Amino acid sequence: MKTYLRAVVFIFIIAIIKDHVLADETEVYIHPDTVRQGGILTVDVTGNGIGSVQGLFNGTYINFFRDRDHTTFSALVGVDLSAKPGEYPVDIRIEYTDGRTSEHTARIRVVSGEFGLQRLKLPKRMVEPDKNTLERIKRERNTLMRIFGTTTMERFWNGGFIMPVEGPITSEFGLRRIINNTPKARHSGVDIAAPAGRGVIASNRGKVVFTGELFFSGKTIVIDHGLGLYTMYFHLSGIRVKKGEMVEKGRVIGLVGSTGRSSGPHLHWGVRLNMARINPLDLLTLSEPGIEIRTTRQEKNRKHLGGE
Ligand SMILES: [Zn+2]
Repeated sequence: MKTYLRAVVFIFIIAIIKDHVLADETEVYIHPDTVRQGGILTVDVTGNGIGSVQGLFNGTYINFFRDRDHTTFSALVGVDLSAKPGEYPVDIRIEYTDGRTSEHTARIRVVSGEFGLQRLKLPKRMVEPDKNTLERIKRERNTLMRIFGTTTMERFWNGGFIMPVEGPITSEFGLRRIINNTPKARHSGVDIAAPAGRGVIASNRGKVVFTGELFFSGKTIVIDHGLGLYTMYFHLSGIRVKKGEMVEKGRVIGLVGSTGRSSGPHLHWGVRLNMARINPLDLLTLSEPGIEIRTTRQEKNRKHLGGE
């Protein structure tokens, strides 16, 4: 995991957005132009005669999917929780069906997530694991990293993502955690408080790629939504799906619990997008990836014409 020294101060900089008009009126649109740590970028490439689109952001491949109208290629790009604030290039390469290619670089700005601080008290054995437990933690971490590092080149998700359980958010994404007076890793998901036994549903369609009981996350489910996007569900009291199963959005996959390192019944909901740790709540506003984006562009263009 990359760690960087983070600028504490929020950087107010007017971001640079480039709506380039390429050969044959191909448009590359990246939204937003300024993204917080743990946020999501959408990339939209529209034009006639496009055969394929490849992209690179901060050394990670961008996985495009073709839209329903077959003229738009779209992708979601994750900006990790610990991405250093600053300007980053997004490199796009377009291959046309007639053999031509074009290359395009846009710049986006990553700003501090302005994450808060949280102090927690937990049993000592959960915070200061012994040697055997440390080995177990490492093994389990490697298992998950292998999953997140694998990209299924098919999009399983459909339309918008939904909250996996009803309840108040008791611990926000990105919090710097101080557990028993010792600084620990940032909170890489959101905690949703709910009574033990309440049904947890799949946030979107996907394939169950992991079920099991892990030291930190307790009873755990990981769903692969395709193209490098994974959602995970921690601390469950029960698991209602099997590894390898395809689940539809809204299907009950498990039950809220307090297994693993947890101080009470809640669901920890986490997301990985091409390895990056993403704020799950940002997924909820992507109502229809690849389609919603176009509306945004039209609004942007209108604003632009208005003399902004
Ligand atoms: Zn949590």
